[in-house]
Amino acid sequence: MVSAAREGFVAELRARGIHDERVLDAMSKVPRERFLDATFARRAYEDSALPIGEGQTISQPFAVAYQTQVLDLKPGEKVLEIGTGSGYQAAVLAQMGVRVFTIERHIPLLETARKRLDSLGYHKVISRAGDGTRGWPEYAPFDAILVTAGAPDVPESLAKQLSPNGGRMVIPIGDMGRQRMYLIRKNGEELKAKELIDFAFVPLIGKEGWAA
Ligand code: SAM
Repeated sequence: MVSAAREGFVAELRARGIHDERVLDAMSKVPRERFLDATFARRAYEDSALPIGEGQTISQPFAVAYQTQVLDLKPGEKVLEIGTGSGYQAAVLAQMGVRVFTIERHIPLLETARKRLDSLGYHKVISRAGDGTRGWPEYAPFDAILVTAGAPDVPESLAKQLSPNGGRMVIPIGDMGRQRMYLIRKNGEELKAKELIDFAFVPLIGKEGWAA
C-alpha cells in the first residue's frame, strides 16, 4: 500500500518536471511517512508541507525534489543542509550517496530527526544543533549547500564555505511569506546567481538570516 503510494508520488514528481533519475530513485526509496508523527503519516504522499512541531514543517515533496535536482549532485560530494527539520531531506541526500552535513536550530527537532535517520540506517549523516546561517567552517568547503528555509539574502558565511571549484548553493530568497529560489554557482571568488521559481518556506532565523 505504502510502496504503491510512493510510486504514484514519484510519477507525479516526474510529471511536474523532475527528471534526475538519482533524485527520483532516492525519493522512491525513502519512506516519508517515517519522518512524520502518526497524525500526519497517512498524508505522507500528498504534495504538501506538513507540521513537524516547533512551528516548523517538513518541506513539500516537490520542493525537496526541485532543490535536490537543481544541485546536480554526484555521489561522494559534500553537501551542507541548513534546516534539518524532520530529517527527510537529509535522508534523500544520503540515499543518493552524498556526504551529508546538516544543521537545525531547534534541538527537539534535531533529536527526533537523528533517531529517525539512525533507525532507517542513515548512520553517516553528520548533524548539529545551531545557527546554520554561519555554516559549518570545520567541514568547509562544501560542493553544495541546500538551504531549506527562506532567507532575506545569501548568508555571507555560506557563500564563503562554498567550494571555489564549481560549488553550488540552492536557496529561497525573499520575504517571510514567499521567496524565489536561486541557484548560486561559485568559481574562484566569483558568484553567479540564477533565478528559478517561487516557493513558500518557513523563515531562516539567525545571525545572517531573519531576526528571531
Ligand atoms: N529539510 C527539512 C525537512 O526535510 O524536514 C525542512 C525543514 S523546514 C522547511 C526548515 C527548517 O529550517 C526548520 O526546521 C527550521 O527550524 C530550520 N531553520 C530555520 N532557521 C535556521 C537556522 N538559522 N539554522 C538551522 N536551522 C534553521
